Amino acid sequence: MICVLSGGTGGAKFVDGLRQVMPAEEITIIVNTGDDLLWWGLYVSPDIDSITYVLSGMLSRERGWGVRGDTFLCLQAMGQLGEPTWFHTGDRDLAVHLLRSRLLAEGKTLSEATSIVCGKLGVRARILPMSNSRVETRVDTPIGELSFEEYFVQRWYQDPVNSVRFAGASDAEPAPGVIEAITSADAVLIAPSNPVTSIGPILAVPGIRDALVRARGKIAAVSPIVGNAPVAGPAGILMAAQGLPSSIAGVAQAYEDFLDVLICDTRDARAADAIRKGGLRVQCTQTIMRSSDDKAALAREALTVVAGGLLKDEPAADGTVPRFGQP
Ligand code: GDP
Repeated sequence: MICVLSGGTGGAKFVDGLRQVMPAEEITIIVNTGDDLLWWGLYVSPDIDSITYVLSGMLSRERGWGVRGDTFLCLQAMGQLGEPTWFHTGDRDLAVHLLRSRLLAEGKTLSEATSIVCGKLGVRARILPMSNSRVETRVDTPIGELSFEEYFVQRWYQDPVNSVRFAGASDAEPAPGVIEAITSADAVLIAPSNPVTSIGPILAVPGIRDALVRARGKIAAVSPIVGNAPVAGPAGILMAAQGLPSSIAGVAQAYEDFLDVLICDTRDARAADAIRKGGLRVQCTQTIMRSSDDKAALAREALTVVAGGLLKDEPAADGTVPRFGQP
């Protein structure tokens, strides 16, 4: 079993690669819920949605979020009714929010609702929210404190950031299965997700960081920072606000108490040497995921680094694939 810690877009690309190179049933993904929001009265969990959609083959790869080929008729209609439209939910996407919201209103936990939605969409990997308690990422800016989606989507991450906090984290508990998934995994992979606002909230849930320290498998993180800048989005700004350099050294620092291997881009080879001198193992490879093949290659590399032998076997000459786990 491989355990992955993930946010939404970078995480979804990485998970897309993993599912190509190993059986989905062998993957547990612990997902950030710090971005969750109530939108038009519905409970939306953007990162859980992205991971669910990528594993069910529904994700829009062009946008990196939402459902492929979705329409936005409800969004238009809500705009005509004078409702806010800055958070774009497609019509089929909305169906998932409606179902999840109904399940939560009936008293189900977010874990249970996620599992039901995944079952209906044919997801074979296990998706676990980091917590069933509400933990909200709050971004402090000169215009006041914003939710992550207000900062990121509504205001296009244009505001200077003073600090980031995770409201509710200290009273939160890891969702059922989270600690066990980390401690018992053959390996733990930290997706190239934002270290502050995607992995940060997961690590802020009491017990999770400690589980990573105790994990029996090796832990590798793929850097979302390439050449001292994020591949996309505000990770660099947010890292600086948290006192971390926007570099692979900053990523290593964010995970320093439990990380075994940092996987970074070949462009960061020189910075990698400096980190190795500090004693951390660093593997340089091509980490920019443009195509399906790029994603599969990075996933294969990550698995090779932490857990050789977990890869799906190559097809034999007669086209049959030996069963996973068989010699
Ligand atoms: P969010 O919840 O949508 O912010 O999603 P994530 O935190 O999972 O993903 C955002 C991070 O993914 C950003 O910091 C990007 O730098 C990183 N990212 C996106 N695409 C790639 C890629 O192809 N390679 C690498 N190494 N990082 C990527």
